[in-house]
Amino acid sequence: MGIISPAERLLAAADLHEPVETGLLTVDLSAIAANWRKVAGLAGGAECGAVVKADGYGLGQAAVMRALAGVGCKTFFVANLLEGETARALAPDAAIYVLDGVVPGCAPRLAAADLRPCIGSFAELEEWAAAGATLGRKLAAALHFDTGMHRLGFPPRAAGEVAARAHGIAPTLVMSHFLSSQLPDDPVNARQIGDFLAVRAHFPGIAGSIANSSGVFLPQKPHFDLVRPGYALYGGNPTPGVANPMRAAARLSARIVSTRDLGPGDTVGYDGVWKAPRPSRVATIGAGYADGLPVSATAAPGKPAGEAVVGGVRCPFIGRVSMDYIVLDVTDAPKVAAERGQWVELLGETIDVEELALRARTIGYEVLTRLGRRYARRYVG
Ligand SMILES: *Cc1c(COP(=O)(O)O)cnc(C)c1O
Repeated sequence: MGIISPAERLLAAADLHEPVETGLLTVDLSAIAANWRKVAGLAGGAECGAVVKADGYGLGQAAVMRALAGVGCKTFFVANLLEGETARALAPDAAIYVLDGVVPGCAPRLAAADLRPCIGSFAELEEWAAAGATLGRKLAAALHFDTGMHRLGFPPRAAGEVAARAHGIAPTLVMSHFLSSQLPDDPVNARQIGDFLAVRAHFPGIAGSIANSSGVFLPQKPHFDLVRPGYALYGGNPTPGVANPMRAAARLSARIVSTRDLGPGDTVGYDGVWKAPRPSRVATIGAGYADGLPVSATAAPGKPAGEAVVGGVRCPFIGRVSMDYIVLDVTDAPKVAAERGQWVELLGETIDVEELALRARTIGYEVLTRLGRRYARRYVG
């Protein structure tokens, strides 16, 4: 029956019924597993963990963690206590680090779920030691040092004092975080690595970790004992400006719910910001900013609009992205692919996360983590 969209091909392959939702997010778990294996291989002898915060960067913490545990990942990082409790239920034997550290009053629940806070202040250190004393054992934790992010962590010059005052806990990791690892030529990377080496000298025998996804790819190979990739596992490009070495993990398709023909001068959407320059055929898809497609993917001076792939042809978003709908100019698309009921591709083989982000003046991380709750979700692989 004419052109088959990528989403339809996937549905056919999986022998699934067409979703009743007007958006379909397909998460390729084999791509996530392959991406983890690739990063693990690049990390040499270092252990490869996985950052699964923000619901596995929007792709679903449970499915992502099961896939990663299935290929051998044993160490996970989450942002907060609730994500940590979810992670513990999914991975009973894993080491699970909580980046927030010890939020006041949360120590007992962190301990009960056997979570390891990333401690970055003496107040947290004392709360964690006190929680351990109550339980009659020293509790595991990471010690987080701030080599330049100025967001979380002890100052490096406090390393000696931290080492002296950490006797009430059981440190299992000394860590820091790059502020600019996506820019391999930025001299700040070498400066941070130097400061981290100086910090580590105070903690002999304790594992070290500084590399996020892009950090793994730095020429200095600052892999230490453990690397902490997030974005790259989900198909994000850890080497901006160079071809993406990772496999795409998220495909997003939306369904055409209405079409119409417009004459020159007709406008589309709120405030009529798009005006037809010629007789035009337009198609309305059932996805908008409430589904995580940014309003900023609307065309603006000096910035192209977002695009969808309709029967193999790129079609621009026209008018302003609205809550539930985006209108496409499908004048140049094959007619059969641009009919009511057809699926169009928003993210996939043609348009990757980085491109959508560029067209929305944001970053791929935000595109991924904001993927809405309204899509049907299919996990393949
Ligand atoms: C989010 C985060 C990571 C993962 O970073 P990516 O760029 O997604 O690989 C690693 N470490 C810390 C401290 C983080 O906050």
